[in-house]
Amino acid sequence: MSLNPLRNIPSVSELLENPKLKGLVDRISHNAVVDTVRTVLDEMRGEVQNAVGEKTLPNVAELAERIARRVMETESLGLRPVINATGILLHTGLGRAPLAEESIAEMNAVARDYASLEIDLAGGKRSRRSLAVEPLLKELTGCEAALVVNNNAGATMLVLAALGWGKEVIVSRGQLIEIGGSFRLPDVMALSGAILREVGTTNKTHLADYASAIGEQTAALMLVHPSNYLVQGFAESVELPALVELGKKHRLPVIHDIGSGALIDFAQFGLPGEPMAKQSLADGADVVLFSGDKLIGGPQCGIILGRKAAIEKIQKHPFARALRVDKLTLAALAATLRLYRDEEKAKLDVPLLRLLGTSPENLKNRAERLAPQIAAVKKAVAAAEAVQDITYLGGGSIPTQQLCTWCIAVTPAGMTVDRLAAVLRAGTPAVVGRIRQDRLLLDLRSVFPRQDVDLVAAVEALGAE
Ligand SMILES: *Cc1c(COP(=O)(O)O)cnc(C)c1O
Repeated sequence: MSLNPLRNIPSVSELLENPKLKGLVDRISHNAVVDTVRTVLDEMRGEVQNAVGEKTLPNVAELAERIARRVMETESLGLRPVINATGILLHTGLGRAPLAEESIAEMNAVARDYASLEIDLAGGKRSRRSLAVEPLLKELTGCEAALVVNNNAGATMLVLAALGWGKEVIVSRGQLIEIGGSFRLPDVMALSGAILREVGTTNKTHLADYASAIGEQTAALMLVHPSNYLVQGFAESVELPALVELGKKHRLPVIHDIGSGALIDFAQFGLPGEPMAKQSLADGADVVLFSGDKLIGGPQCGIILGRKAAIEKIQKHPFARALRVDKLTLAALAATLRLYRDEEKAKLDVPLLRLLGTSPENLKNRAERLAPQIAAVKKAVAAAEAVQDITYLGGGSIPTQQLCTWCIAVTPAGMTVDRLAAVLRAGTPAVVGRIRQDRLLLDLRSVFPRQDVDLVAAVEALGAE
């Protein structure tokens, strides 16, 4: 009969004396390390008690190593910067659009101090927080009034609740979208309290379908831009001007969810068909909704533009308070919008537009320059070459909207491609690429030139291990 093996498990204080864990206490926090030590020791006791035969215990050094790894894993769960080498420019998992320097500077300025968020400094009276961006949105789109909320899903919910609660909102069956995550228009509508009145069929909806659904119960007509899919072939949908005319005849507002919210024409980047906020308003939509962090390239938010009376009604709904944005979002959005006063300046200074506008020759040159540097990391890389490929905008864009790009295709040495991808993801800076067959593609379409050095360094760090 051996001694009780639980007695051989080291104590918390013994483990904390280990140099590795001592270092982590200094670098991270005493509590974080002690918590992890306790958790791991509890697990160890459980394992010993449940063991069928004799259980060999790790020695103190091995145990400390295990605990240190766990502490580091927990630390890395926080938000960290990432080099986006996926090629997807508006990757929702990677935070969509990176912000312009002008936006960062403006956020910094109002973050450190108090800000005139709801005070009119000239008159000393209380004001609305959306006034920080409303004049700019008027100037850029021709809207009468504007409101900014947490995101476009929130904007949709709020607008439907404010304008359609307990009544019917008419939508084409071809536009009952799911955006991803848990955003499904019929569900959002149900939660808002508006009653969905579906008209037409999946592939065809005519103006007469809307017209015959209008009745006493109708509160609004809604048009949704199907940003992430395409109904092709025997298909027909009603255009905004025709729906506006019908709405006018029946004194019903028309709500237009344009999704990505272009402020300039994206056909110049090879992405035709993106509805522009200005055009939608010019065509007569009463309320227009879109995201701030898609094609505008600003912070996450939902922008609601429209007629003064409609916006006032929306503003007064209690959801508006629940979905409101903070001073940082407004500061970042205002600075991004200001760049659009000059389209050429926007194309240079809005990071999303700069990445979109990078020429294939530029990407090719960089890929050809970086590939040999990456191939030189012999310990981790068997081969690396520049390859041409196609990529997508992301964030709810349609599969036909392709962008040409250049990548560095990396064949790993001594490990699987999944392992290579995982190690790069866990590195500092983290690098996320995309796997194609047995190679990891590092796509330069979504990498800033200033990150090229870091990209190579991240691969070199693998060789040093
Ligand atoms: C992306 C999108 C949404 C959701 O916007 P979020 O800002 O992600 O909440 C809603 N409607 C359409 C048409 C979209 O493209």
